[in-house]
Amino acid sequence: RAKHRKTGYEVFEPDMNRRTLERLQLASDLRRAVERQELELHYQPQVRLRDGELIGVEALLRWRHPERGMISPAQFIPLAEETGLIVPLGAWVLQEACRQGVEWANQGHASFRIAVNVSALQFERDDFVSTVSASLASTGFASERLELELTESIVMRDVRETTIRMEHLRQLGVSIAVDDFGTGYSSLSYLQRLPLNVLKIDRSFVQNLRDAENALPVVKAIVGLANHLGLSTLAEGVETDSELQLLLDVGCDFAQGYHFARPLPPGEILAFLEQQARK
Ligand code: C2E
Ligand code: CA
Ligand code: CA
Ligand code: CA
Repeated sequence: RAKHRKTGYEVFEPDMNRRTLERLQLASDLRRAVERQELELHYQPQVRLRDGELIGVEALLRWRHPERGMISPAQFIPLAEETGLIVPLGAWVLQEACRQGVEWANQGHASFRIAVNVSALQFERDDFVSTVSASLASTGFASERLELELTESIVMRDVRETTIRMEHLRQLGVSIAVDDFGTGYSSLSYLQRLPLNVLKIDRSFVQNLRDAENALPVVKAIVGLANHLGLSTLAEGVETDSELQLLLDVGCDFAQGYHFARPLPPGEILAFLEQQARK
């Protein structure tokens, strides 16, 4: 509730109240979403720029709300983070992605990685590494095929602790990508010390390749930095052929975006693979 500026009395704001109630309702719905099986993962193809080969898929959470229909993760992930629900949710995502990976492997498709998004709250828990290894063990998913996407802000929070945790993940065989790279404020010397595999060039830079605010020098610099550190680069949000060409020119390794495919339900990933094989 807001205080009235002049009088200091609390003012009843129906609009704000309604929003608060809505969020509370949504949070309690979300708490039950896992057991009601309203959550699902969609998978967006990641391809090698050189030849268009599928090298991975990113698991993206979808919530099919019984009354509201599909709710975007941009809406409910922040809510899940505020309420701490992201911890059990994130554990479900890991488990489900690994299970799906094994299902694909059993169908003869074991060549691509699965990338899973990890929130700060999850990563910072002392049991995070054991949650990851438990998902791998219980499903039998090959750890070399699991990639964890961490944002720059997570990576930079407590560098000593982050380094130790990442080393443990690497010992499991899991690889690590820095998500939304370039939007945070990574210290380059720290980047050098962390056991990373991939820099994901944020969509905003890819989008700005085509307009007046030319981001080409920035993208070039990121690719150069990654090469120097021995990391791969993956460009996010590639929508056009001209973006693809520019990224190829600067030596970016991989890409993901509507130009190749939208996030797809698991069954359609196999169709994507078959279509690719026919090319
Ligand atoms: P993100 O990790 O940066 O994921 C990429 C987002 O960009 C996805 O949105 C994807 O659908 C969208 N995208 C992909 N290609 C294009 C393109 O060519 N153009 C445009 N305009 N957009 C594209 P989505 O699925 O709505 O997810 C939004 C965010 O929610 C994700 O951003 C991620 O931060 C978060 N999120 C999604 N699933 C999970 C999850 O399982 N755990 C956690 N912690 N966060 C998740
Ligand atoms: Ca991501
Ligand atoms: Ca991203
Ligand atoms: Ca993002």
